Amino acid sequence: MSSQRFKDAQQVIPGGVNSPVRSFSSMIGDPIFIERASESRIYDHDGNAYIDYVNSWGPTITGHADPDIIHAIEQQLGKGLTYGAPTQLETELATTICELIPSIDLVRMVNSGTEATMSAIRLARGATRRDKIIKFEGCYHGHVDSLLIKAGSGALTLGSPTSPGIPRSLAEETIVLPYNNSKLVKQAFAEWGNDIAAIIVEPIAGNMNCIAPSHDFLHTLRRCCDEHNSVLIFDEVMTGFRVALGGAQAHYGITPDLTTLGKVIGGGLPVGAFGGKRAIMEHIAPLGDVYQAGTLSGNPLAMCAGQTMLNKISNDTGLYTRLEEKARYLCNGLRAIADELSIPFSTRVVGSMFGFFFGAKTAPNNFDEVMQCNIEQFKTFHHNMITQGVYLAPSAFEAGFINTTLTQDDINITLNAARIAMTELTNI
Ligand code: PLP
Repeated sequence: MSSQRFKDAQQVIPGGVNSPVRSFSSMIGDPIFIERASESRIYDHDGNAYIDYVNSWGPTITGHADPDIIHAIEQQLGKGLTYGAPTQLETELATTICELIPSIDLVRMVNSGTEATMSAIRLARGATRRDKIIKFEGCYHGHVDSLLIKAGSGALTLGSPTSPGIPRSLAEETIVLPYNNSKLVKQAFAEWGNDIAAIIVEPIAGNMNCIAPSHDFLHTLRRCCDEHNSVLIFDEVMTGFRVALGGAQAHYGITPDLTTLGKVIGGGLPVGAFGGKRAIMEHIAPLGDVYQAGTLSGNPLAMCAGQTMLNKISNDTGLYTRLEEKARYLCNGLRAIADELSIPFSTRVVGSMFGFFFGAKTAPNNFDEVMQCNIEQFKTFHHNMITQGVYLAPSAFEAGFINTTLTQDDINITLNAARIAMTELTNI
């Protein structure tokens, strides 16, 4: 039973999990312990199958246990696991990334999204010789000290830590603003413009459910950075190769100075990357004086998994259209059921990312609006869906993901389950 496995895990792992959101701490029930996964489904140790809309929080865009990726890893396995010396595989993956994301001239591989954003922030600070950065409320960029920061008490105050262990002095270098609020971005630059090293933003925010940028928001960020010689960092750890082959920057036609990547580019193995304009990237060691390094960075297994993934998705014309159609079919279906049952409910789809919001008749546009949603209804719905074999993110603040192996039947099964779960909500 998963609940017994969870008890055992808690004896030896803090909270029984290696990443907090997996603990179901704000959900009903215990986490499901996964034994294996294939295509659109994950399976627990008791043989229960679940249609999976988490997809390891994004990476498995071509489905679980993709045979092409497994085969590539198997081929590489026999050649050794890590060398700590350069490989051709690293150049190949870097070349592919630079070709597919034209804003990237040079790219450095790391092992996680957190490492990517941490390094991008250091690089921006080092290249500009400035300390302050702007981030947006509800955007998550990994557990980087400078980025685990919430807004201060007023609209334009310096940030304060969201976790003990982060020096207040460091937090004060981070300005936290509401997502989609161009006016406050301009005001922040008017106040601190010459001290701002960078803006970091999720160009589509997937860590407060699924929030899209308003029409002028990303343009304003680009303009403010240009006017003040600050670095615009798009954190595309989630959106990179998820919403379009060129990421959110291709989707919206805005060019950042630096981009952080992760998830899909590792094909399911631990990888991150940061890259961008040559003039900025040349500040990184050994070319420049901004230090950054990693024992397992560019690991051959991860490189060949990532390369296989990127080859596969870039050779599949229509992939993103198909994924988006599935996401829309799912979300339209969910909304129709909610409407029939008079449950206030809205959805958002961007490429293969989606979100749904109980208690909101129109989809929220920032963190404050997301916080107004009916979290209790989400929790009950989530639990009910799990009992019916549908695995949704165990948090009301995370985007959902579609993979290519999800079938029309899978979505219809999901919608039938949703009808039962929503009907029960109306009986509470
Ligand atoms: N940036 C974004 C947008 C993310 O969604 C995440 C993780 O979910 C990260 C950074 C951190 O990546 P990792 O968990 O690989 O450290």
